[in-house]
Amino acid sequence: MKTPFVSLEQAKKIIEQYPTPFHLYDEKGIRENARQVNRAFAWNKGFKEYFAVKATPTPGIMQILKEEGCGMDCSSFTELKLSEAVGFWGEEIMFSSNMTPAEDFVLANELGAIINFDDFTHIAYFEKLAKIPETVCCRYNPGGVFQVANDIMDNPGDAKYGMTKEQMKEGFRILKEKGAKHFGIHSFLASSTNSNTYYPMLAKILFELAVELKKELDIHIAFINLSGGVGVPYRPEESPCDIMAIGEGVREVYEEIFVPEGMDDVAIFTEMGRFMLAPYGSLLATVVHEKHIYKEYVGLDACAANLMRPAMYGAYHQITVLGKEDAPCDHIYDVAGGLCENNDKFAIDRKLPKIEIGDIVYIHDTGAHGHSMGYNYNGKLRSAEILLKENGEAALMRRAETPEDYFATFDFTGLFKK
Ligand SMILES: *Cc1c(COP(=O)(O)O)cnc(C)c1O
Repeated sequence: MKTPFVSLEQAKKIIEQYPTPFHLYDEKGIRENARQVNRAFAWNKGFKEYFAVKATPTPGIMQILKEEGCGMDCSSFTELKLSEAVGFWGEEIMFSSNMTPAEDFVLANELGAIINFDDFTHIAYFEKLAKIPETVCCRYNPGGVFQVANDIMDNPGDAKYGMTKEQMKEGFRILKEKGAKHFGIHSFLASSTNSNTYYPMLAKILFELAVELKKELDIHIAFINLSGGVGVPYRPEESPCDIMAIGEGVREVYEEIFVPEGMDDVAIFTEMGRFMLAPYGSLLATVVHEKHIYKEYVGLDACAANLMRPAMYGAYHQITVLGKEDAPCDHIYDVAGGLCENNDKFAIDRKLPKIEIGDIVYIHDTGAHGHSMGYNYNGKLRSAEILLKENGEAALMRRAETPEDYFATFDFTGLFKK
């Protein structure tokens, strides 16, 4: 079973200052994990993890990752602005967007970010806005299904992202003609993988493509971007990925494919979001109701507006009732939020200790794609984000929304005109 990174006593102290619900992040865990990622790929001179900003677009978190040597992977105007505000610039920013608006490309170019073209037609679209940069990247989609052993991991042929091999070739040829000098290849073939072989298998596909493109077009391949997709064990019975083994697996493919071709200067980039943050965030909520009808319910002060993954994907998040870590899980509950949507349940038929009103519930692994997916349905407000610092202090990184925030985008002027 997973253990929370705070005790009931610690949580209560934080709650005295900041009422539930809130997302709490573990600085120590974030830093240690980021260091381990950098160690796993230390064999590669140019290695850089570009944190997928969408997972946790919180300056306090982005700053920690900056200090650990990470760049930022953005896909929208606002994510670019956020990265700029935290002090990222130039090739510390990867711009991996799709269906990209013109103003986003313009800003990415102004910041000197590495542009990752999702589609062949984006090259001509970009050229109308700005000069083609010297370093560029294209996103590859091999089509078909992506299998590891006999398991289908994902279905790239069904995904809206990336270009076919022919389009990659034609794209690189045109980019070279327009002055590009250093080329990157990016691909994202499977999400939330719990296997040490995903990155090495993806690396093999991209390295082979890189060799082919280099030979055919006589271009300099500068980097391979393995993107995101490395998973975390949300369920207690799942085992975590071994990032050291993953790094070693990629190194072996690198030795096998790149080194004999003299391509030993190619940098490896990653764009992990989930693996960098998910386990180091949690949603803390208070039990405000219990309800006994055809099933047993406990109602929280948090809802799917604070954590959408269970409602959206049926995702599993482990729940610990703080202070009852060692109590027997001899009750079965649906743990629900207050949205007028029956899918607003953090857990269904979950075995938990006997729960009382006032208990503090700790929902695990919400550090990535948690707060950031929040929304305002039913007029629900997004929660605060708090950092549990290495020295044990709690720091507010983002305050909770207020009704004023919800009202801020309305224009009431017409209502008062007579
Ligand atoms: C979402 C996303 C990521 C991060 O994915 P994780 O599964 O969180 O690692 C990386 N790159 C791109 C382009 C993405 O859209």
